[in-house]
Amino acid sequence: MTALSISEPGRDCPLCPRLHDFIAEWRQREPSWFNAPVPTFLPPDGDDAVRLLIVGLAPGLRGANRTGRPFTGDYAGDLLYSTLISHGFARGEFKARPDDGLELVGTAITNAVRCVPPENKPVGAEIATCRTFLVPTIARFPNLRAVLALGSIAHQSTVRALGGRVAAYPFKHGGQLPAGGITLFSSYHCSRYNTNTGVLTEAMFVSVFREIAAFLRK
Ligand code: SF4
Repeated sequence: MTALSISEPGRDCPLCPRLHDFIAEWRQREPSWFNAPVPTFLPPDGDDAVRLLIVGLAPGLRGANRTGRPFTGDYAGDLLYSTLISHGFARGEFKARPDDGLELVGTAITNAVRCVPPENKPVGAEIATCRTFLVPTIARFPNLRAVLALGSIAHQSTVRALGGRVAAYPFKHGGQLPAGGITLFSSYHCSRYNTNTGVLTEAMFVSVFREIAAFLRK
């Protein structure tokens, strides 16, 4: 079995019955949507080029679950992709469509939970089960140096995927910790809720990417 086949679930992954049923319902309601586990977004240069992996929470119903590309189709992608482009982690123009031609540079983007959860809230068992795919996703990139977790759930699942104890690696916006042979950066999630409420400002988000860029230049 190749790394690709174990790091990416099949379209009908049955491991989380609640999420499987939720997707089945949306396949009926919106048959033209993607409605499946959303695959990791990779750069065109392949796995060897990846030095930064970004881990989000889960696909948004009308975002990645509709379009099939992480952070594409709803608000969260606007801030993420504009920041990636301005720091050299992506090139092209983000138009919130998977065919917009945007390319990642040395970066891959995945989610801690690959299937859309009702109300954006996966339960603990689903987060733990989908780590089946997060662990090999982290392992597939031989030159990976940094992981950026967006939000506390992605942070905690990534800590566990790296073999760490959550209590020893508390979530903190702007945090930077060595873990499992890489450096784990953390940020509040770039959701509309967090930016509208001021939990995360654009300046706070940009500063995390500035630190990652400086770290990768070392
Ligand atoms: S969330 Fe992950 S483990 Fe659960 S059904 Fe979807 S792909 Fe499978």
